[in-house]
Amino acid sequence: MARLHWFWRAAIAMFLGGVTQFVLIVLAERYLPPRGVGVDLGELAVGAFLFFLPPVTTLAVHAVLSRRYGDSPRETRCRKCGYILRGIPEPRCSECGERI
Ligand SMILES: [Zn+2]
Repeated sequence: MARLHWFWRAAIAMFLGGVTQFVLIVLAERYLPPRGVGVDLGELAVGAFLFFLPPVTTLAVHAVLSRRYGDSPRETRCRKCGYILRGIPEPRCSECGERI
């Protein structure tokens, strides 16, 4: 299965979170009525939704990408080089020689 480095998974997730925020700001400027005086519960709910949607989008995208393209957590890997330590004959990484 194809793998994506954690950096790219995080970068894609943050980018899509940013796009979500940008779209929300544009939509809010265009369609939300101007703010009145005082606190309206509905307005507060909309505000909370707008505030939390971008980070939630980021987390969700990252979770999906990590599940599909992340490293399998069941594989034991070398601390130094990341080589999968399966079926090695001695307690030593056969790629870089690091002791296990
Ligand atoms: Zn190694």
